[in-house]
Amino acid sequence: MSQYDYDFFVIGGGSGGVRAGRLIAGMGKRVGIAEEYRWGGTCVIRGCVPKKLMVYASQFSEEFEAAKGFGWSVGESSFDWKVLIANKDKEIDRLEGLYQKGLANNKAEAINSRAELKGKHEIYLKSLDQTVTAERILIAVGGTPTRTSSAQGDELCITSDEVFHLEKMPKSVVINGGGYIAVEFACIFAGMGSKVTLVYRGEQILRGFDNDIRNALYEEMMAKGIDIRLGTTFDKVEGSKEGNKTVYLSDGTQVPADQVMLAIGRNAATKELGLEHAKVEMDAKGFVKVDDYSKTNVDNIWAVGDVTNRVALTPVAIHESMCLIETEFKNNPTKPDHDLIATAVFTQPEIGTVGLGEEDAGQKYPELNVFRAHFRPMKNTLSGSNEKMLMKIIVDVKSDIVVGLHVMGHGAGEMAQTLGIAIKMKATKADFDQTMAVHPTAAEELVTMYSPSYKVINGERQE
Ligand code: FAD
Ligand code: NDP
Repeated sequence: MSQYDYDFFVIGGGSGGVRAGRLIAGMGKRVGIAEEYRWGGTCVIRGCVPKKLMVYASQFSEEFEAAKGFGWSVGESSFDWKVLIANKDKEIDRLEGLYQKGLANNKAEAINSRAELKGKHEIYLKSLDQTVTAERILIAVGGTPTRTSSAQGDELCITSDEVFHLEKMPKSVVINGGGYIAVEFACIFAGMGSKVTLVYRGEQILRGFDNDIRNALYEEMMAKGIDIRLGTTFDKVEGSKEGNKTVYLSDGTQVPADQVMLAIGRNAATKELGLEHAKVEMDAKGFVKVDDYSKTNVDNIWAVGDVTNRVALTPVAIHESMCLIETEFKNNPTKPDHDLIATAVFTQPEIGTVGLGEEDAGQKYPELNVFRAHFRPMKNTLSGSNEKMLMKIIVDVKSDIVVGLHVMGHGAGEMAQTLGIAIKMKATKADFDQTMAVHPTAAEELVTMYSPSYKVINGERQE
């Protein structure tokens, strides 16, 4: 019998933590897992899942409009925020129950408590006021939204943590940020009928994505009435938490709003976690430092997911846990693979992408062929919408391998998922060309772009 209370203890019941806890317990190990808020973590409770449900809700307004062109008369429509929130909450409760059931079925001990490290093997469980011991520990505490910009009045703003529980739908919203959460919520609120202003400090939204895609999304969002202010920051926010607010911007303008949302990134949830008691090292931003196998500098402690400064996505947290299990419990050392991760941004229109953007690919490969199609999808010929789709395939000329694929338009996330397999398998442009089109689809464009639109040589676009 081990000298410890548990063979393995997980701090944090989110995407990465629950996967590790459930599977390791299923292998017959004595596993404890502590969660301070709700089971399922950010993704299930206040991230991907409720967000996607709200994306669906926000898409109906355009569908009602589009229906007319196809002969439908749609009666007067109205949107009830409270119904959406109540139904969303019911679904989240159901999912949380499934996470709890998964742990219980595998005999992992799920503990509703904040947990803090007291030493290399000691964990303090706050709600029980008890210290337990474990042979091995996994830190999977995720992150929290950044609540401080450099502007006055940050305390009047909401973040993604509060946005899912607003009492009523804001008639007007100002969002600070230009990343995933900012652009997704700008589109969600716009689709539901709010007046949306998006304020981003940089020169174009979605830094790090292919520039063409960024520009095209900007145009489409502006065309939907979202007021995007680039190169602009918040100076201050005035008003009251429950009531009206005014945002003073660095361009000298003022924007009134019911709600002001900060979507300016996330911090690791390492504050007061007791890492110093176990001598676990963090980086300058407070993320836990790990090696290629997700192990910290302390031999019996690992960290996965958003608490490490790698890629903050749910499937990545899960993959890191799966690799840890292979390495530590199946005697099969496996490094998480962070290369060629397909991702989607659930804006309207949606973005789906895998591999390098044109600018990054141009830095890495001396000669690229870029295949590009910007077109009005068939549905919009009758829907009356002017929204276009953009598809780009970026090919390394020397190897003919597709090194980047980017789609903006309906179903882009689904396309990125399936094409992600081909790109991961190092598909060549010739493989794309040999693939029969599925007709009539929008995605068929991806296998019928036979001639390059232009070349990029040593990072310079050739016309
Ligand atoms: P989390 O899921 O955050 O889980 C950590 C858990 O630890 C939390 O439940 C927390 O309460 C708990 N915890 C923290 N400290 C302690 C402690 N001391 N003791 C006990 N428990 C503790 N990713 C995608 O792939 N697709 C998306 O569409 C997507 N949308 C998102 C939308 C939003 C609004 C947000 C905020 C994130 C989104 N993400 C998305 C990112 C995704 O949610 C995260 O990458 C993922 O949840 C990370 O998993 P994790 O296990 O590292 O942490
Ligand atoms: P991101 O890192 O995507 O974006 C943060 C944004 O805030 C950037 O535009 C950044 O600007 C800006 N910013 C940072 N600090 C400040 C500041 N002080 N003042 C003004 N602007 C600032 O973070 P998010 O919070 O949007 O999302 C967190 C992560 O969650 C994402 O990176 C992603 O990994 C994950 N996520 C995934 C989703 C998906 O898969 N669909 C959806 C939502 C989240 P700059 O670019 O100039 O630094």
